[in-house]
Amino acid sequence: MSQSNFSALSHQAQGSSQRSAGAGIGGLLVAMFDRMADWSERRRQRLALEALPDHLLSDIGVSRADAEHEADKPFWRGGTLSGDADPIHRARHCWSGGCLCGGVRYEIDVRPEPVSFCHCGQCRRQHSHVGAYTGVPRTALRLVAEDTLAWYASSDRARRGFCARCGSGLFWDALDGGPRITVTVGSLDDPSGLHVDRHIFVDQKGGYYDIGADGVERRTSTGEVVE
Ligand SMILES: [Zn+2]
Repeated sequence: MSQSNFSALSHQAQGSSQRSAGAGIGGLLVAMFDRMADWSERRRQRLALEALPDHLLSDIGVSRADAEHEADKPFWRGGTLSGDADPIHRARHCWSGGCLCGGVRYEIDVRPEPVSFCHCGQCRRQHSHVGAYTGVPRTALRLVAEDTLAWYASSDRARRGFCARCGSGLFWDALDGGPRITVTVGSLDDPSGLHVDRHIFVDQKGGYYDIGADGVERRTSTGEVVE
């Protein structure tokens, strides 16, 4: 190998090593930028958590002291806790659900409303017993699988969404085009944290059971509150 060739190779090697050092520094900068973006996002989440009113904090099982403690952490202290010990993890609880066979899957971006028990004859036929429903804004419900989703117009004012393969009841959708859709509580993956706040259509309940004294509001099919 001639000197000039060696020199050329050496130069090439040096250039290559400079390029890789450059990529290394670039990589470090990108990693640092990502880390700072994580910190910044975590900081944003902490402030959002701290800004929640007491009743919403209590809904997600985070105490005011937990939220303030989290917000007081220095910005670089990222996820130092894991799972349910982490208030931000709890605050970001993802509401999801689907049918028995998985042909229909959905996600909900907001905390669903309290649960209504519906005692009407249609719910009895569809769900074997009382229908348990929650409500969400239509815009907050996202179908992530709908291959087997079918609809049945159960009356001139509503249609019921169900899985055409496994039969699970999923949605009750008023045809008035309102902003809200109701979702069966039984189809939620984890309905814990929700509570029942009313019985509806109690005048149509099956004659084989008593609702019992549970202290929860009761309404008839015309919306009248009864004892
Ligand atoms: Zn199914």
